[in-house]
Amino acid sequence: MFSFIKKFFTIIQKDIKMEIIIGKNAGFCYGVKRAVDNALIEAKKGKVYCLGDIVHNKNVVNNLKESGIEFINDIQQKNSTTIIRPHGENKIVYKKAKEMGIKLIDLTCPSVLKIHGIVSQYSKEGYYIIITGKRNHPEVLGIKSYVQSNCIIISNIEELYESIEEISKEKKVLLISQTTYNSKSFKDIANFLKERLNGDTDLVIKNTICLTTENRQKETREIAQKVNAMIIIGDKKSSNTTELYNIALNYCANTQFIPNPEEIDLDKIKGIKKIGIMAGASTPKEDIHKAKEILLKNNY
Ligand code: SF4
Repeated sequence: MFSFIKKFFTIIQKDIKMEIIIGKNAGFCYGVKRAVDNALIEAKKGKVYCLGDIVHNKNVVNNLKESGIEFINDIQQKNSTTIIRPHGENKIVYKKAKEMGIKLIDLTCPSVLKIHGIVSQYSKEGYYIIITGKRNHPEVLGIKSYVQSNCIIISNIEELYESIEEISKEKKVLLISQTTYNSKSFKDIANFLKERLNGDTDLVIKNTICLTTENRQKETREIAQKVNAMIIIGDKKSSNTTELYNIALNYCANTQFIPNPEEIDLDKIKGIKKIGIMAGASTPKEDIHKAKEILLKNNY
């Protein structure tokens, strides 16, 4: 009798509970984790500055401020110790730091450093450089500073249509990307260039979207197709999280983009049986767990 009652209640419980699918690739990527961990180690050693927000996430920045790190917009403190964030920096910063006796803790993500090397090499060889990405994003501005030849930044294929006549005159062209660009858009742009540039142009395509970004976007696409609502956690300034939101929205109209788990709009997910959670590369794992807890606590 007792086992029958237990089984009965388990079935009811299952019926009323929402299924929550959390992306395996959600949250801090290796580049961000490496930067945050090392910044904390440096903070324990003494006074340290960080050039710009270490990542686009207010909570992470505030936690680091509490540990004593001071965030600055320009290197100005002579003989100080200053962190370079994972996005990387303009080439000129390294020169300036040397002149001012500043010790740089360079936490530029290795995937971004690789791009600096590629554009440096190809532009020296006279290639016209096309960078796909956000025009004013710090990572893109950093990449551009390593280009010594003609260069264009395009954020979408429409911008390429406008410049294609000009680009067609080039003999050597390199297509490269911001690490967090949309992988599908990059492929479309690459295919368009292959079609439009004739055989006389040496076209080199380097897909430098980082692997964790590609995996996160792929997983977001898959989850968004399986669920009735999606929650994307991350700062609105975060480029990679914005991409995740746009991808999810394509497949799931009921998608929320929230900076903090506390901001989940519970009314929008009332009665929904399956919900997906994904988070950007700069979102701490704790925020993901908190979001799950909030959903479970509200018995959705
Ligand atoms: S998103 Fe990719 S490139 Fe950017 S910090 Fe993370 S691992 Fe590095």
